[in-house]
Amino acid sequence: MNGSMNAENPHPITTDAVVIGAGPCGLFTAFELGLLDMKCHFVDILDRPGGQCAELYPEKPIYDIPAWPIISGQELTHRLLEQIAPFKPEFHFQQMAESLQKTPDGLWRLTTDAGTIFESKVIIIAAGGGSFVPKKPPIPGIEQYEGSSVFYAVRQMRQFEGRNIVIVGGGDSALDWTLNLQPIAKSLTLVHRRDEFRAAPDSVGKMRGLVSEGKINFQMGQVAALKGANGKLESVIVKDNDKQDHEIACDALLPFFGLTMKLGPIANFGLNLNQNLIPVDTEKFETSTPGIFAVGDINTYPGKLKLILSGFHEAALMARQAFRYCYPDKKLKFEYTTSSSSLQEKLGVESDE
Ligand SMILES: Cc1cc2nc3c(=O)[nH]c(=O)nc-3n(C[C@H](O)[C@H](O)[C@H](O)COP(=O)(O)OP(=O)(O)OC[C@H]3O[C@@H](n4cnc5c(N)ncnc54)[C@H](O)[C@@H]3O)c2cc1C
Repeated sequence: MNGSMNAENPHPITTDAVVIGAGPCGLFTAFELGLLDMKCHFVDILDRPGGQCAELYPEKPIYDIPAWPIISGQELTHRLLEQIAPFKPEFHFQQMAESLQKTPDGLWRLTTDAGTIFESKVIIIAAGGGSFVPKKPPIPGIEQYEGSSVFYAVRQMRQFEGRNIVIVGGGDSALDWTLNLQPIAKSLTLVHRRDEFRAAPDSVGKMRGLVSEGKINFQMGQVAALKGANGKLESVIVKDNDKQDHEIACDALLPFFGLTMKLGPIANFGLNLNQNLIPVDTEKFETSTPGIFAVGDINTYPGKLKLILSGFHEAALMARQAFRYCYPDKKLKFEYTTSSSSLQEKLGVESDE
């Protein structure tokens, strides 16, 4: 898997297809495109593949994936990655697909908020319920520190080296980053409103170990106010459950309050929308704009069911029309993976012919 970014690279990445969203339906798209020799890149605002399955219910069982009587969200993601690996899709995580224009030579120019630019023959929107965006804590004036002292995600760990860090939250992200940033921080305080955590017990155990060794601090309570100037945070005031204030020196505040889903910039791509969903036809799963497709939870058509298996079917049909854009002079064949030696070669499996 490639998590590459080309933020500093002024040259666009040229490809057959960019898939916006690496949820289960987006991932399976890479398989169907791959069988038809189309190369694809993924953009996702999350830091890993799996979409809702990985972010909202990694350990919950799913019972309606054909041929898997029971499979967890994480395991399904893992299996899909294994299935698409022969096609070497490239992943660009922690990036929001932000703007889309047509180039004079008929390609789609997609730009992310990290500055990565793609020039692609087709665009496949597999954005599910929208992009995951952080829930912001209701702390007065927090906006003026965002991006300089307040961060809702860790994009580069070295940015936090030698800083006085306060992490807020009791879930996996808060605990994981507490453990990962502790060795490079000048000081680190974890703030949570109670002494019980939703995070994995192993991480909680490790965090408690660091507290008892004096390597980090734990403060129960809620961040009530921020002190600083010109976007530079100097300290946070934590109000404990007895309404006592505690001032903690801090130049980096990381609140991890979970994520919510919003359609986001796709709303400005110039596509027809119906209640924040993208209408498509059921033959090609193409949007109102030729060359732009939508599969999975983000699309709508009569009878649509927001199920993972629907997205898999949609990906198979969509890929055939995408092929016609990518290779207008090539003939499209219908083949079974079971019996086609050329498909088996693409999949890297031994042919029994
Ligand atoms: C608790 C729960 C249980 C469920 N159980 C089942 C079940 O049993 N069976 C079933 O079939 N379905 C189930 N579902 C529904 C299923 O998870 C969805 O149908 C499925 O995840 C849709 O897949 P997707 O690939 O279309 O989108 P998603 O999984 O939503 O993934 C979309 C991805 O696109 C990214 N994205 C969106 N916009 C942008 C942008 N502009 N830039 C960058 N990235 C972007 C998002 O970050 C996300 O990762 C369940 C859902 C929930 C919440």
